[in-house]
Amino acid sequence: MGALCDKTTSTPGVVLVFWYNTAMKLQIITLFPEMFKGVLGNSMLWKAQDREIVSYEFINLRDFGLGPRKQVDDTPYGGGDGMLLKPEPVVAAIEQAKQNDPDARVLLPTPRGKTYKQSDAKRLAAGQQGLIIVCPRYEGYDERITEWVDESFSIGNYVLTGGELPAMIVIDSVVRLLPGVLGGETSTEIESFQADDQTIEFPQYTRPEDFRGHKVPRVLLSGHHAEIQAWRAKKQKPLN
Ligand code: SAM
Repeated sequence: MGALCDKTTSTPGVVLVFWYNTAMKLQIITLFPEMFKGVLGNSMLWKAQDREIVSYEFINLRDFGLGPRKQVDDTPYGGGDGMLLKPEPVVAAIEQAKQNDPDARVLLPTPRGKTYKQSDAKRLAAGQQGLIIVCPRYEGYDERITEWVDESFSIGNYVLTGGELPAMIVIDSVVRLLPGVLGGETSTEIESFQADDQTIEFPQYTRPEDFRGHKVPRVLLSGHHAEIQAWRAKKQKPLN
């Protein structure tokens, strides 16, 4: 990531501008780092790392497990099914990640969080602050870990088996917005949700003009820029 740093020389009126590379550090605390290989190792998310726009780092929660069996979970106080992540390994892992990047923002995927939206992706991408994403498993985590968390988020009203998929969703949605990741710098500006978390992009078509009797709307073939814009504006719609 190119961060701009200017330094004024002793000569009045002369400003030297230096660019320096600081990749946005994305640290993922997980018991299952292998799950990320396919998603982060392909296409734009891979390119973003290759171009040193981001760096992906994994912290294996098991390394912070307690005792000879590296225990990371335990039964819930008050009874109930399943196991919870213990606070000691999770907080030790967050502390290690913070040592690597003291200014990083700590995110926790959880159904208890606020719903993650495009405006969150925009905010996190614009800040270019490093992220530490904790990926819980089992029936969840000891609530006391939230004292070390800056932001909790839910990706929707359904339950997944762990925080890894929500972490990948956040990473994908943020990284694609970083300058230099996608081809066209303005291509994200006209996408669904980008303006207001609500408006969905107009429908799009490519060749052939006639596919099994289903035709491309005539206006898109007209070459009339203003009419095309008007048609697209009409076809954009708010989320119902
Ligand atoms: N017992 C929890 C409950 O009923 O809310 C569900 C735990 S879930 C099996 C394990 C972990 O997956 C959660 O702690 C969370 O990190 C992640 N997770 C599951 N669904 C999620 C969602 N909709 N949004 C964000 N994270 C989710």
